[in-house]
Amino acid sequence: MPSENPAIPPKKDAHGLMAPFDATQERAVLVVLPHPDDESFATGGTLALCAEAGVRTMYLCGTYGDMGRRMGKPAFTNREALRDVRTIELKEACAVLKCELRFMGLRDKCIEFEDPAEVAARVREVIMELDASTVITYYPGHGVHPDHDALGHATVLAVRGMPAASRPRILAAAVGNPEALLEELGEPDVAADIRPVVATKMGALKAHRSQTEVMFTHFEGDAPEDAQSRNFSERLTRSENYYVLAPDQPTLLE
Ligand SMILES: [Zn+2]
Repeated sequence: MPSENPAIPPKKDAHGLMAPFDATQERAVLVVLPHPDDESFATGGTLALCAEAGVRTMYLCGTYGDMGRRMGKPAFTNREALRDVRTIELKEACAVLKCELRFMGLRDKCIEFEDPAEVAARVREVIMELDASTVITYYPGHGVHPDHDALGHATVLAVRGMPAASRPRILAAAVGNPEALLEELGEPDVAADIRPVVATKMGALKAHRSQTEVMFTHFEGDAPEDAQSRNFSERLTRSENYYVLAPDQPTLLE
């Protein structure tokens, strides 16, 4: 049953059809997510489509991901070096995606303890500097990870604090079981068909070696393909779907 939470804006299309993401309509696209690799998993195809269309893109990365537990398999780094490793990997991924990169320098796994208004003010500055037509973040309340939710929330606040005429569109990526999301949020509003740029997305994901090498070993090895991993790889390679969030609506974190 669809949720009756007022934080969920009504669907735009009366026919319930997802609008295609059209990179040629964008001025500039800003992605605001907390960790190195989020940009490639959640938005790598969308960023690649923008680059092909000559649209300026930037990844504003909240943290250095240095509290992560994946150190490569076999491990090739450690807690002390992880920040440097993640930084180098992210720079490589952004080079593949032809995307500018900026770090916010927030503490990994601690964004929920920051003042949302302060984080929002910093995000807003970058939105305005870039003159972004679209900002992409995680759906606050459906990000699964507290950092994802907190930065998604701050990004909505960032847009809310702008004059209506200069506000970018907010596209939110929801994480989790697709059937459960469909039930709770309905169909996403916007779908980016990423099949033409899937090799670029995979290249960016591979740059995050300390985090994704295991996954690629699984995909490319002769491990039996179970339904779950087939689902996952389909979602990763076909379409990146987003919900349009209305900045004046309270988020699920308010
Ligand atoms: Zn993340």
